[in-house]
Amino acid sequence: METQSKQAPVAVVTGASRGIGAAIATELARQGFEVVLLARDEAALTRLQERLTAAGGRVWPLACDLADEGAVGVALSRLEAKLGVPRVLVNNAGVGGPFHRVDEVSAAEWEQLFDVNVKGVRNLCQWALPRMKAQGYGRIVNIASIMGLFGGAQSSTYAATKHAVVGYSKAIAAEWGAYGITCNALCPGYIDTEMLAKADPAVRARLLERIPVKRFGTPEEVAGMVSFLVGPFSGYVNGSAVVMDGGLSAHLASDLPAF
Ligand code: NAP
Repeated sequence: METQSKQAPVAVVTGASRGIGAAIATELARQGFEVVLLARDEAALTRLQERLTAAGGRVWPLACDLADEGAVGVALSRLEAKLGVPRVLVNNAGVGGPFHRVDEVSAAEWEQLFDVNVKGVRNLCQWALPRMKAQGYGRIVNIASIMGLFGGAQSSTYAATKHAVVGYSKAIAAEWGAYGITCNALCPGYIDTEMLAKADPAVRARLLERIPVKRFGTPEEVAGMVSFLVGPFSGYVNGSAVVMDGGLSAHLASDLPAF
C-alpha cells in the first residue's frame, strides 16, 4: 500500500486473489471504492492490482494468511494506518475441501477449514465492528454458501463452517444494526470458479442436471449481489441469508413424481 485517498470509500475484500473475490473487488473498484485486496498470493494480488489500476481503479494488495492471527493483526494495523476505517467489509476467503465422510475427517482438516472460513471471518468482523460503529456506518457481507443452509454428503466440515458463518452474520445483524451497520450472509450455489473446476466432470454434469437454470453461476453475478448488499438500496436488508443458486435449493424433490 502506498498513499491514502481522502474521498473514496474503502472496501476490504478477502480472498481477492482469484475467483469470486477477484470479481467482487473488480466490481467495487469499478464503482469507485478504494479496494483492499486481501489473500495470501501476493503475485496474484499484484497482477489484479495492475489490471484494475489500468482500468482507473484504486486498489491495494494486502498479502495475509487469514489463518495466522498474528499476521492478520499486523495487516489490519497497516490497513488502518494507510486507509482508515473501511465502510465495506466482504469476507469472501474460504476453503472448500477436502471432502470426506464424517468418520474420515481428520482433526487437522477440520481445524484448517474453521481457521479460514470461521475464525478468519470472526477476526475481521471483531476488528471492523467497533470502528464502523464509531463512524456510524458499515456494510458487512459474509460469503457463506447454500451449504450454510443445507447439508450434503461428504461436506460436513464445509457445511459446519458455512452454517457458522450464517449464524454469526445474523447475530451481528441483531447486535450492531442500531449503529448504522448491516451484516448479511450471501449463500451462493455452484459458481464456476477454480473451486468448482476441481470437481470430477461426472459430478459437474450431475449437478447441472439438478440446477433448474441449467448452468453454474458466475463470479460476476455474485459480485453484482454483493454490490447491491453494500449499495444505497439495501439499508433494510440486515441479517439475511441471501440465496443465489439458480433454483437448486427450491426444488429438492421436483425430480420425483407428483402424488
Ligand atoms: P477460490 O477460487 O478457491 O478462491 C478462494 C480465495 O480465498 C482465494 O483468493 C484464496 O487466496 C483465499 N484464501 C484461501 N485461504 C486463505 C487464507 N488462509 N488466507 C487468506 N486468503 C485465503 O474460491 P471461490 O470459488 O472464489 O470461493 C470464494 C468464496 O465463495 C469461498 O468462501 C467459498 O466457500 C464460497 N463459495 C463458493 C462457491 C463456488 O461454487 N465456487 C459456492 C458457494 C460459496 P490465496 O490462495 O491467494 O490465499
